[in-house]
Amino acid sequence: MNLPPKKYSALVSEIRSFNPIRYGKSRNFKNGAVSYLSPYISRGVISLNEIAKLVFERYHPKDAYTFIKELAWRDYFQKVWEAKADEIFTDLKHQQEKVKHHNSVTAVVHAKTGIHELDAEIRSLYERGYLHNHIRMYIASVTCNIAGAHWFKPSQWMYYHLLDGDPASNALSWQWVAGSFSSKKYYCNQENINKYTGSKQQGSFLDEEYEKLVNMEVPEILKEKENTQLQTQLPKSECDLSHSIDGTVFIYNSFNLDQEWHKDKPGTRILLLEPSHFEKHPVSEKVMRFILDQSLMIPDIRICVAEFHDVQQAWSNANFIFKKHPTTTHYRGIEETPLSLFPSVQGYFPSFSAYWKRAEKEMFKMDKNKSLFD
Ligand SMILES: Cc1cc2nc3c(=O)[nH]c(=O)nc-3n(C[C@H](O)[C@H](O)[C@H](O)COP(=O)(O)OP(=O)(O)OC[C@H]3O[C@@H](n4cnc5c(N)ncnc54)[C@H](O)[C@@H]3O)c2cc1C
Repeated sequence: MNLPPKKYSALVSEIRSFNPIRYGKSRNFKNGAVSYLSPYISRGVISLNEIAKLVFERYHPKDAYTFIKELAWRDYFQKVWEAKADEIFTDLKHQQEKVKHHNSVTAVVHAKTGIHELDAEIRSLYERGYLHNHIRMYIASVTCNIAGAHWFKPSQWMYYHLLDGDPASNALSWQWVAGSFSSKKYYCNQENINKYTGSKQQGSFLDEEYEKLVNMEVPEILKEKENTQLQTQLPKSECDLSHSIDGTVFIYNSFNLDQEWHKDKPGTRILLLEPSHFEKHPVSEKVMRFILDQSLMIPDIRICVAEFHDVQQAWSNANFIFKKHPTTTHYRGIEETPLSLFPSVQGYFPSFSAYWKRAEKEMFKMDKNKSLFD
């Protein structure tokens, strides 16, 4: 699946023709009717709230149930990130058990695990920047629970290559698989992979009953480890910080590429790429290209490779406007809070099920009162 930069209007049309019933029946299968919306959601081109409203124009909540629940996972992870900040990059609920090292697994990084489907999908990740949810779970499970790697380094490797890279969905999903943000580790075996990917492989190290996998010695092929170096190549800055600017400056970044945001208001529009952010969360050239190309859908936007602090000092007469996000807590100016999936469901919940209990009620009220989403 190739995922090009898209106009907001094109996404709206796609969502209007998306069928959540087919999604509910097939989403676990590699070739299932999934939405492929994640790069546009993660980059802030369209919000979960807008997607849900568009889906409810045509479907009753019970028909869209599975799809909305998946959107809710993303919303939940964002809330955990808001509440716990950088703690999400450490073992959040329990220490990951049976950790053998804190590196990447060479066979995974080089697509040589011997599990044909996983190797093909890892190669496809490098080419296209996307993986189906189940494949992400399989890769994380083999890496952490079979090869014994701690989740953090490998999660950075996957994030680096994903067009939809989102620090919260990524780190917390890896933790969920590795058992540090869930009650038990997630295991997959060859039978499960064959079922959901349509492959027929037999005799691999995963071709075992679950009870055996849990206590299995690390297979020879997964023993080699490496400290993968991940670096971001930032583009050339188009911002002149030697001349001050008056008036409004709208700050976009790699998580806010919303083409509709204040689109008719006059002002300077900058795509702020902070070196310190990409030092902490490196992305591949392909991902950076996607971010830049997606930003071109915003008229007159200028790339600004600088720290917020330096822009603020250089343009001290400007009024900065930005969207609230866990990566913008150090920005100063007018902070706008975007609508979350269910605007009345706010704050931290200790588990997804506690969050979903509240969110589900809101979803069913929706049918009767659509303004609940505003
Ligand atoms: C190890 C691992 C790493 C992941 N890393 C990321 C990441 O960096 N960025 C990211 O956006 N998602 C991540 N996910 C979640 C999920 O795999 C992707 O959001 C989903 O596969 C994207 O494809 P889609 O848009 O076709 O999803 P669909 O199935 O069509 O779902 C629609 C939307 O719902 C949300 N969603 C669906 N499933 C999940 C889920 N399990 N967790 C959180 N949100 C979900 C996404 O925003 C997605 O775009 C990760 C999952 C795992 C297991």
